[in-house]
Amino acid sequence: MTIHRAVVARVQPLTATMTRVTLHGEGLVGFESTGVGDEYVRLFFPHGPDRSDLSLPVTTEKGWETPEGRPVAPMRTYTVRAVRPESREIDVDFVLHDHGVASTWVAGAQPGDALGVNDPTGLYSPPDDLAWQVLIADQTGLPAVARLLENTPDGVATRVVVELPGPEAVQSLPGTKVTWTYGGNGHEASRLAELVSAAIPPGTDLTGGYIWVAGETNALRTVRRYLRKELGLPATRFKVVGYWIPDADSWNERYEALPDAVRAELVALWDNPVGDEEDLTIRYEARLSDLGL
Ligand SMILES: Cc1cc2nc3c(=O)[nH]c(=O)nc-3n(C[C@H](O)[C@H](O)[C@H](O)COP(=O)(O)OP(=O)(O)OC[C@H]3O[C@@H](n4cnc5c(N)ncnc54)[C@H](O)[C@@H]3O)c2cc1C
Repeated sequence: MTIHRAVVARVQPLTATMTRVTLHGEGLVGFESTGVGDEYVRLFFPHGPDRSDLSLPVTTEKGWETPEGRPVAPMRTYTVRAVRPESREIDVDFVLHDHGVASTWVAGAQPGDALGVNDPTGLYSPPDDLAWQVLIADQTGLPAVARLLENTPDGVATRVVVELPGPEAVQSLPGTKVTWTYGGNGHEASRLAELVSAAIPPGTDLTGGYIWVAGETNALRTVRRYLRKELGLPATRFKVVGYWIPDADSWNERYEALPDAVRAELVALWDNPVGDEEDLTIRYEARLSDLGL
């Protein structure tokens, strides 16, 4: 997968808590959008104070490798909010939160800054008989929700629920009525699980439906279990994507501190082909919860 070197063309505050960065440049020649509304890229950030000095990995048969002697570029995952191939531009909308490589970078972003961008991957994959859909996210999923709405064919009924930190984070979204609810987003416990079960209660006729949910990872464990186990949805009828982990540093430290045998057991869970990918994910997440992760 190619890693493109892109340069900041414009920086535009969207709300008090989200900033749009437009990336452009010759490096984006060959950037191939999938056209899928929630397509995401890995962004590679400068490793030091020089905002134009990127240490981009190169693609080898083993995957991405940083050239020997070069620092490793911090990498984060972001949605491609818009693509304009004619001007070789893409937009990325960043949540501003208290700390973190990306959030700190965007707070000081200005034209001329450089970022690495890989080729995108889309996850939203509705069934052929799509007649209605429910899109539910916290603030990190708002860029994807907006683009999914732009791409939704006329005639597909869409319900949108977004959990935001507060009214100052509301954006205007194309074409549908949105239910905004306030909380979560690192300030309070996320209510995504409750919002999903309220929007699609047990007994809902699920014919022709598709459910897409993105946001804080821990809340989404309950959502995945609910859609799969309580509503009995097949994997083709929903997509649940964890976008960020609360207190990520401590989570990573606790994961790394697990005994080797436990980490090997977690990895092995993916090799045991009982059910499909959703069943495997539910078992994996249940084991993480048992371990306090
Ligand atoms: C497929 C996908 C698409 C995504 N699209 C977007 C997008 O379009 N826009 C966007 O803003 N994010 C998006 N995210 C989420 C983003 O990758 C994470 O929020 C990421 O952790 C931010 O990196 P950071 O360097 O700012 O913080 P990190 O260094 O990763 O984390 C530092 C600390 O900040 C906390 N933190 C991280 N994100 C948040 C947050 N949003 N709110 C509160 N606390 C937080 C962590 O828990 C950690 O304790 C997406 C994630 C995925 C997987």
